[in-house]
Amino acid sequence: MAWQRRELLQRGLASAASLLAVATAAARPAAAASTRADPALSACAPSGDPLQALLAGNQRFAAAWQLSSGPALTSADRTARMAALWSETCQLDPAALARGQRPWAAVLACADARVSPEWIFDVGPGELFDVRSAGNTAFAEGIASLEYAVAQLQVPLIVVLGHQSCGAVTAALTGQPLTPLLEQLVTPIRASLQPGDDLSLAVRHNTTAAARQLSERSAVLRDAVSARKLTIQPLDFNLETGLVSVI
Ligand SMILES: [Zn+2]
Repeated sequence: MAWQRRELLQRGLASAASLLAVATAAARPAAAASTRADPALSACAPSGDPLQALLAGNQRFAAAWQLSSGPALTSADRTARMAALWSETCQLDPAALARGQRPWAAVLACADARVSPEWIFDVGPGELFDVRSAGNTAFAEGIASLEYAVAQLQVPLIVVLGHQSCGAVTAALTGQPLTPLLEQLVTPIRASLQPGDDLSLAVRHNTTAAARQLSERSAVLRDAVSARKLTIQPLDFNLETGLVSVI
């Protein structure tokens, strides 16, 4: 059939064009280097230890979070109290972000609606490279994304962010019936559990296991850690206080 041949030819040309675009992008180290060197993209990056910068941002967030907590407050009260947080938040130029990205930390976090990394660490768009999936496990596509962040964007820190009341960890702990795909998702969480774990211990064990698996499963991440170009740090987020703690 002529139309089938034509369609196959068009698809083939489209695939070839995609591959060519990828290859061309890979062959442009000078362009990538100039984006990395763009000072406007690093204007909010900390000059010191990125982990300490995240923890300091979290202190600011937690203060506002605690102030806006309680049934006596209206939504407008909470808006005013959380808005105070933004008076200190560094913001990159959107025009610069349209040219590229230069994140200074990566976060492997749960998809939970209460666990938004930019809020928790009080940073603006363009600063964190986020990978999110229920239960913050070290899943293949997530590891690949983090390899890109480390190898291409030179991110020096990955934090793995577990959190209080995690639904995925609860599912792994209680053995409730799940769909086949959710079973796949909780399998590494179940493997991380230790006898006698309650939910908060299970969250911590899952978070440290995911952090460990990043370098076990990825030569790129392992080599970066060995070369002291990368730190991988598990953290635990408390929803009531808004504080993260180092595990
Ligand atoms: Zn969760």
